[in-house]
Amino acid sequence: MVIINYLYIGIDDTDSPDGMCTTYLACHIIRKLEENDIDIVGYPRLIRLNPFARFKTRGNGGVSFKIINDEKADLAKKIVLDEVSALSMFDCDNTNPGVIFYDGEITSEMEDYAFRAIYEFITIDEAEEFGKSVGCEIHKFKKGRGIIGSIAAISLPLSDYTYELLTYRNPENYGTKRQIDYDSVIKMDKETFPDTFENVDYAENYIAIEPKTPCPVLYGIRSNDDLILNKALDIVKVNEPIDDYCIFLTNQHTDMHIQNADNISQMKQYGCYEISVTVKDKPHVIDGGHMFFTVFDETGEIECAAYEPTKDFRAIVSHLRPGDIIKLYGGIGEQNTFNIEKFQVLELNDIEYKNPVCECGKRMTSAGKDKGFKCKKCGKRIKSSQKVSIKIDRFLNNGQFYETPVSARRHLSKPLCRM
Ligand code: ATP
Repeated sequence: MVIINYLYIGIDDTDSPDGMCTTYLACHIIRKLEENDIDIVGYPRLIRLNPFARFKTRGNGGVSFKIINDEKADLAKKIVLDEVSALSMFDCDNTNPGVIFYDGEITSEMEDYAFRAIYEFITIDEAEEFGKSVGCEIHKFKKGRGIIGSIAAISLPLSDYTYELLTYRNPENYGTKRQIDYDSVIKMDKETFPDTFENVDYAENYIAIEPKTPCPVLYGIRSNDDLILNKALDIVKVNEPIDDYCIFLTNQHTDMHIQNADNISQMKQYGCYEISVTVKDKPHVIDGGHMFFTVFDETGEIECAAYEPTKDFRAIVSHLRPGDIIKLYGGIGEQNTFNIEKFQVLELNDIEYKNPVCECGKRMTSAGKDKGFKCKKCGKRIKSSQKVSIKIDRFLNNGQFYETPVSARRHLSKPLCRM
């Protein structure tokens, strides 16, 4: 049996809020490699890591790809390092690129490291020590924070995955309004959903494929299927040149950031979980439109939030009532509240306890503590203080999932159309 030896290349932290995008840099490097007769094997990978990482520019993504490790590997390494040096946004304090080369098997400890980079925080020193211990060739630029994500981007196993087609703008158009024909985006969505998804938020009239930052990306289309992306590319019309495009294999929309928590006390701040809990109080809105309620289990309680950007999702959350048992998906953020990404109703509390109705048809009122009820209309009294249970209609349905809108969805969140 012939064992092919690959050179894995990981790149992260090359961009800033003012420009660049690590995926664009990767695409540019891939083209340079091709010019030198070096082809990458399979798709490049865009790997989203801990959504709470402090120094992220936007979505905390690292990129990796692999080539055959032959006599051209040294040339490939030189091209990668030259392009990262030439194109990274070094002026930004928070841009600290890291490049990793690795030519062994991806081991289980590397896979564990990658999951840690999704679930927890890793320091630059820790990443460097780990990278050296497994035989990575490490290149740090400035502080080199990017090595944290680069090692993870190489190492993460993808038991579930999606694709993203990214088109890039001509550099002279960077920072200007993107000339995307929105009608064609809607046509593309109608013709390719649910193979593609997250294209449009109809409730918010929001074209989700268009970034809102001055980065090189013209638009990005996410899908379950790589072939459908060629169709989508054909349908979407733009009134500016597409400089280049690239399809990435990703862990986006897989819920890979979500860990199973048995109870509330197991959850930690900056972790993302799925957990079954009971609603304690009725959701309420505060100034700014953020909605909160508390849930509990036998180990404690935690406040949950559906923030203003989740828009209509708050109207759904508002139908929860004390006693409802739900499975929450989301993460515990800066304020120590559980930010809900979606929830499933496990068991609705559809029983309400009310005062009994009098023979005359009027609902009775309390006659005082432990003194039963009295009817204000006909004067009848009953001794028992026992309220009667009534089954009420609920807007929410048992078993059903409810999710935040596309406009407010995290890169890693699995949408219901994929579940
Ligand atoms: P973009 O999505 O536009 O590429 P970004 O949001 O990915 O930008 P980066 O510029 O890559 O942001 O910065 C994120 C930084 O956080 C990188 O240096 C990466 O190595 C680091 N990082 C990633 N995961 C973790 C983690 N679990 N703990 C600590 N740092 C992390």
